[in-house]
Amino acid sequence: MSYVRHLQCTTCGAVVEYGHAALTCPSCGSEGILDVVYDYEAIAHRIGCDTGRDMGRDCFAATGENSMWRYMPFLPVDPVWERPPLRVGWTPLYNARRLARALGARSVFVKDEGVNPTASLKDRASAIAAVRAKAAGRRIVACASTGNAASSLAGCAASMGLRSCIFVPRRAPRGKLMQLLIYGATVVSVDGSYHEAFSLSAAAIERWGWYNRNAAINPYLVEGKKTVSFEICEQLGWQVPDWVVVSVGDGCTIAGVYKGFHDFYHTGLITRIPRILGVQAAGCQPLVEAFRSGERFRPSPENTIADSIAVGVPRNPTKALNAVRRSGGDMIAVPDEEILRAMRLLGSTTGVFSEPAGAASLAGLAAAFESGIIGREETVVVIATGNGLKDIANAERAAPSPIEVGPSIEDLRQMLEARAKDLLTQGE
Ligand SMILES: *Cc1c(COP(=O)(O)O)cnc(C)c1O
Ligand SMILES: [Zn+2]
Repeated sequence: MSYVRHLQCTTCGAVVEYGHAALTCPSCGSEGILDVVYDYEAIAHRIGCDTGRDMGRDCFAATGENSMWRYMPFLPVDPVWERPPLRVGWTPLYNARRLARALGARSVFVKDEGVNPTASLKDRASAIAAVRAKAAGRRIVACASTGNAASSLAGCAASMGLRSCIFVPRRAPRGKLMQLLIYGATVVSVDGSYHEAFSLSAAAIERWGWYNRNAAINPYLVEGKKTVSFEICEQLGWQVPDWVVVSVGDGCTIAGVYKGFHDFYHTGLITRIPRILGVQAAGCQPLVEAFRSGERFRPSPENTIADSIAVGVPRNPTKALNAVRRSGGDMIAVPDEEILRAMRLLGSTTGVFSEPAGAASLAGLAAAFESGIIGREETVVVIATGNGLKDIANAERAAPSPIEVGPSIEDLRQMLEARAKDLLTQGE
């Protein structure tokens, strides 16, 4: 059994029965993104929260699961269903003291999602998709993606013996494309934007009846993504941070971040919800503009190196903007040069190598400190959503060049003198 009570349309409010049938609202169609509603009272009772908050808090570690499955009562998954053997979630949260110092801040934590099995936060969503597809007796799963949703679905599907068909825009970074092919997915590289790849996948899914893992359309994906926030609560010893910073493309990730805190709050495990800062790239910021204007977003060109958030037509605008507004948060856009700088800053102060979309959150944090949106004395968690090895071409743009020498110690001394003088003193 699960603790899902029903689904509810985020557009018209209609209540939809929980099961394997509907993915979107029957009356609103693909505009009617559903929200998964739980019986929080029953969950609180089940995990022992109604006998005291602390009791409930201990139940997750007591499962012995060092993965997202430690949160089973909060997931749209029956405990008896088959799960992928890959270890998804329970990623490290680093107290990034050197990074904080570089930013002039008191307390900055980095949640490294790049260590998930296919190296991005998307695994949390794809794991749910694969589990639900299998439980529904489906054999083929499909999605369109800027890259990471695709590679994570292909990986999770492979681990459970499911077939996958993936649509990507031609611009997808080669690292992500190679993951797909090695995981055995059938890959359709669409000569067009992400928007066009998405539309083609939707038509194919409809035509051949594959399981739909498309962002937003499938309401269960956000439920997987929310486990990142559960982990943040546990890993901070239940001291909820002041801010959580995350990059935004379709808006499903930020919706998941909010939903996690929302679930814990309504079960009585935490007493407040952090403010959420959503970060987009300056060259593709439809949701930042919509947040500012209060109007519906306007489709945007996809002009950014941060391919995972180059989403001109966001699929989950309502849930995304609700997440920011209901948390009392904000949205900000950052230029590509600052994203590249943030990649270097993150790598050199924490040892975390993030792809551009993952480092965009850090660039957003730096800008939010500058503009006073976030105070430097506040506690902040930055989510690094994906691993930098996925996109080496852009890492090369962020990185300095190596020192090139002939095999001569005198040559080397001269070059070090010029480029890395600090190395010439005794390393004590
Ligand atoms: C998908 C993705 C995002 C943004 O998530 P959305 O749900 O599209 O807003 C951010 N960073 C990385 C690395 C991603 O793969
Ligand atoms: Zn509806």
